[in-house]
Amino acid sequence: MIPRSLTFRLVFWYCSLLFVLGVGFSVYTVVGFTRYADASSHRTLAGRTQEIWRLAGPQLGDNAALAAAIERRFEPENQSRFIRLSVGGVVLYASGPPVEADFDPRRIPLPRPGGAGQMIDEAGAYVVAQDFTLPDGRVATVEAGRRDAVLRETRQGLETSLIVALPLLLGIAGASGWLLVRRALAPVSNMIVAAEALSFNSPEKRLPLLGTLEPIGLLGQSLNRMLDRLDSAYQHVSQFSADTAHELRTPLTIIQGELELIQAAADLPEHFRAALTAMLQETMRLGRIVESLITLSRMGSFWGKQAHLPVDLREITTETVEQMHLLAEDKDIVLECAAGDTVTIMADRNRLKQVLVNLIDNAVKFTPPGGRVTVSLTSSATTATLIVADNGIGISPEHHTAIFDRSYRIGGGGGELGAGLGLAIAKSICAAHGGRIELTSMPGHGATFRVELPRGLDGSSPAYRSSDVIRVATGS
Ligand code: ADP
Repeated sequence: MIPRSLTFRLVFWYCSLLFVLGVGFSVYTVVGFTRYADASSHRTLAGRTQEIWRLAGPQLGDNAALAAAIERRFEPENQSRFIRLSVGGVVLYASGPPVEADFDPRRIPLPRPGGAGQMIDEAGAYVVAQDFTLPDGRVATVEAGRRDAVLRETRQGLETSLIVALPLLLGIAGASGWLLVRRALAPVSNMIVAAEALSFNSPEKRLPLLGTLEPIGLLGQSLNRMLDRLDSAYQHVSQFSADTAHELRTPLTIIQGELELIQAAADLPEHFRAALTAMLQETMRLGRIVESLITLSRMGSFWGKQAHLPVDLREITTETVEQMHLLAEDKDIVLECAAGDTVTIMADRNRLKQVLVNLIDNAVKFTPPGGRVTVSLTSSATTATLIVADNGIGISPEHHTAIFDRSYRIGGGGGELGAGLGLAIAKSICAAHGGRIELTSMPGHGATFRVELPRGLDGSSPAYRSSDVIRVATGS
């Protein structure tokens, strides 16, 4: 599965970017609007001062006529306008409070010297003042203004909408981004699940590419081509070791036969006989290694093509224990079998028997005389469990994983060392059956190997009863 953090990080960065852009856009909009509105008001008011001067200039000296002309033309009180005309600081005309009372003209100060041409925002109105020089050299100042409430409210409305819209937009963008990223990465999750399930027991499997977008699909195709190459290289190596092991088997059998023939000769000096016995033992050990190699290479390359047949686990358990009881007896070890009712699974009988043989052989090998080895079979609706437990020398925890690797042996563990392949073979067989093998052990307290196999369609067999313990071989 795709780590959640990747989706989270992508959406987080995407939303952060969106937030920064959103804030930038909002600031730009508010500042732009304010500037545009101010410029437009300034233009209108400056134009109006000109108009007022054209109307009022000729009437200077008759304040009543001046006021009447301005009132008639501009209706400042009704239209929420502010008009004031002064000469040399003496006010000749000033409009009254507007009907809507949205600003107070009496609170608007006279323009500062040199303040002509600029727009001020005072007492609820925008005001622009313009100076005009009279023929006698005096300076007349015309002020035109209008209420600022409309613009102020519009700007506040704009700010409020942006402040509300931004989180809403971010929420929608975040949720849809999350869904989109998850959808886009879903093929990667499928590929991860499929990759986890890939193993040498299913060499034909490949990563699913259906519905993948281009870069992920291309990656999947490359990985699948790499798997093809790995698979064929692995098949090649497996075939090579299988062939080599086969080639070694015949000469080894011949050497063993010849050695046995020489050993049988009656007139052999004692030291030659001892040397021959040692050579024969080593040859037999080599033979066992070669057999193990053949089995391992078959596990790797041919398992997938073998047929699965119903196998009665109870039957092979009791049969194997019976066949191996002599081995245990020789070492003065008790070998018990606790196989309950019949448990049938679809499997390869010979391979499962090999698992039991390897585990029992090890248990007997690594348990001192007088010890005890118990083989039991239990089952649940879904799983059949084979347990081989001994009270021998045990295995320290640092070896628990590695002993299932090929050629791994614990130095000096038992008297008779094998090739370190028995448990690797057992693990391969279990994996090929869709099962697993586990070890519980402490040095000096014996070892318990637990083989769990899926039961498939057959879930009818009841679990084993503890009263079913059958003593097969008893030492003193
Ligand atoms: P080998 O053919 O050498 O027995 P295995 O793969 O069967 O190889 O076992 C690997 C090693 O694991 C052995 O060499 C031994 O040291 C240890 N081992 C396996 N089974 C037991 C056991 N029942 N008790 C103690 N040690 C064991």
